[in-house]
Amino acid sequence: MLDIKALRRQYPILERKVYGKPMIYLDNSATTQTPLQVVDAIRDMYLSHKANVHRGVFLLAQEATELLESARTRVQRYINAPSREEVIFTRGTTEGINLVASSLGQLLTPGDEVILTVMEHHANIVPWQLLQARKGIVIKVVPILPDGSLDLDAFRSLFTQRTRVVSFCHVSNVLGTVNPVKEMAAYAHEKGACVVVDGAQAVPHFKIDVQELGADFYAFSAHKMYGPQGIGILWGRREWLDRIPPYQGGGEMIKHVSFSGTTFEEPPLKFEAGTPDFVDIAALTSALDYIDSIGIEHIEAHENELMQYATAEMMKIPGMRIFGTAPGKAPVISFLVGDAHHYDTGMLLDKLGVAVRTGHHCAQPLMESLGIEGTVRASFALYNTRAEVNAFLAALHRILPLLGVG
Ligand code: PMP
Repeated sequence: MLDIKALRRQYPILERKVYGKPMIYLDNSATTQTPLQVVDAIRDMYLSHKANVHRGVFLLAQEATELLESARTRVQRYINAPSREEVIFTRGTTEGINLVASSLGQLLTPGDEVILTVMEHHANIVPWQLLQARKGIVIKVVPILPDGSLDLDAFRSLFTQRTRVVSFCHVSNVLGTVNPVKEMAAYAHEKGACVVVDGAQAVPHFKIDVQELGADFYAFSAHKMYGPQGIGILWGRREWLDRIPPYQGGGEMIKHVSFSGTTFEEPPLKFEAGTPDFVDIAALTSALDYIDSIGIEHIEAHENELMQYATAEMMKIPGMRIFGTAPGKAPVISFLVGDAHHYDTGMLLDKLGVAVRTGHHCAQPLMESLGIEGTVRASFALYNTRAEVNAFLAALHRILPLLGVG
């Protein structure tokens, strides 16, 4: 059992009031709040350790380099990567996927096929479309079943001799569906395809072991897992990191530069051009320590309990439609009430202090396939309480007449 009351003391923002009411923050899939421990780590980096990494011979620069490189080892341990050289620091999931699409994309030829799914975030669609425009690749899309799980028969049927890449989310940010990465990766590998996984919505909620999952690339963002705002991680299998060309060029990623030819660093530096966000990378260590000190399995159980309770109570509301009911789903509830527009529902909830997400959630193709424009989304984190869920439910009941429902 988590001592939520004690945990919440790490988050002064949760004491905030909005419109004079206690704020109930249920937009955790978009970004989680940051505990004091991580904020303190960022402050400490600025006040005592800031220097440019990998460059100076002086002590401060060596310390900064050491902090950055030990963060890499910490991430390696956190996701059980086989080697620390397979951990690349990025700006976030979006940059991680763009890196793969762009670099791996250079190995593809016109007519090569990339399989995506209809539940992808735009971050795992548009980079492939940019590649399509550059390289003439073909994009194929796996549909979903009515409960929001992936149609795995359709997935298997999309493979051809030309399938080179399969890229899909571990967890849908709208439906909460947890995709069977291990099985999908094994099948794709049998067919000779490279497997890219968008882990943005998975890493905050349950244990990730990249060796066990068996994909080739796995991307995620620190800001969705109690970490700092501007960084992410791309794990890549060493064989692939050796095969694909660099993403961006500049300082840090080279061995030697001359106008007659330039040689590149080994991974991971090969993919880390320019000055890295050392402060946030070092502070990420603190976020991982924080999660480990609580125990990701306790976080998972707590969030799941809140989601199950909220779902059961929401289903009692007339006209309630929940999108995504796959077994074992992550703690995200996307819904619509009667014919009410999602913005109206979201704005009325906001006036009562409840922060939920509204809109297409950067998943317009999914919305199109569901025949809707958007949803309201409530998503949970370790610091949410049953009392907050009750307040959310009470707020929903209160606005029903205004939405013309009930
Ligand atoms: N993929 C998924 C499934 C997401 O939910 C998000 C964030 N909403 C992203 C990718 C993009 O993450 P970021 O903006 O941190 O790069």
